[in-house]
Amino acid sequence: MKILVYENFMTKVFWDKHLKKMKFVKKRDESGKYYLRIVDDSNKGEIEKIKSFCYSRFLRVVLHDDSMERSSNYRSRFFRRNKGVFGNSEFYLCAYCGKPLSKKDVRVDHIIPVYLASKTEKYKRMLILRGIRNVNDPRNLAPSCAKCNGRKGANGGLWILRGYLGRLCFSVMLRELILLVIGAFVLYWLYGFLTDLNIYKAFETVFRFFQP
Ligand SMILES: [Zn+2]
Repeated sequence: MKILVYENFMTKVFWDKHLKKMKFVKKRDESGKYYLRIVDDSNKGEIEKIKSFCYSRFLRVVLHDDSMERSSNYRSRFFRRNKGVFGNSEFYLCAYCGKPLSKKDVRVDHIIPVYLASKTEKYKRMLILRGIRNVNDPRNLAPSCAKCNGRKGANGGLWILRGYLGRLCFSVMLRELILLVIGAFVLYWLYGFLTDLNIYKAFETVFRFFQP
C-alpha cells in the first residue's frame, strides 16, 4: 500500500520532521510535493495509525493500492526467498525451458504478468485463489532466461501453467537425476567391492557346509 501525504502549510510548519520520523520520504510529481511511504498491506495497525495521525492534523492523505503494480524490489525479494537448485543462490534453471542460469543471468519473471493482473479481473482472481494478494509476491515469481522472458512478455494462458510447473519440476527433476547418478555409482562401487571380497564364494562355502 502506498500512502501519500500531500504537502500543505501545516506539514511545512509543524509536521515535516514527524513525517520523516515516521519513515515518509519527500517526493514531487506534476501534482506537487508529497510525502510517500510504502506499507505492507497486512500491516493494518500501522496503516490505521498513519490515517488517524493525518486526519487529526487535517493533512490530506491518500491511500493507493499498489498490490497489482510492479514493485521496485521484487528482484531482491525473489532472491531472498529463492536460493536456487542447490540452495546456494548460485544456480538456477529457467522455469520455461530448463536452461541453467547463474544468478546474474536470471530474469525474474512475474508468472502472472503485472499487466494482466492489473487490467484483468480473471488474472487477479487467479492470484487471490492461490492466496496471493500482491503481484510481486515471490510465489508469483520465477527464474527465466532472457529469451523466454522476452517471448513471454505479457502473455497469459499456457505460459502461466508452464511457469508454475517449470519452476517446480525442473529443479526437482535435476536434483532427482543427480541423486540417481550418485545412487547408481554407489551401487556399482558396492558391487565391485563385494565381488572383490569373493563374498559369493563365502556364501557357497556356507551353503555346502549345511548341505547334507
Ligand atoms: Zn528459457
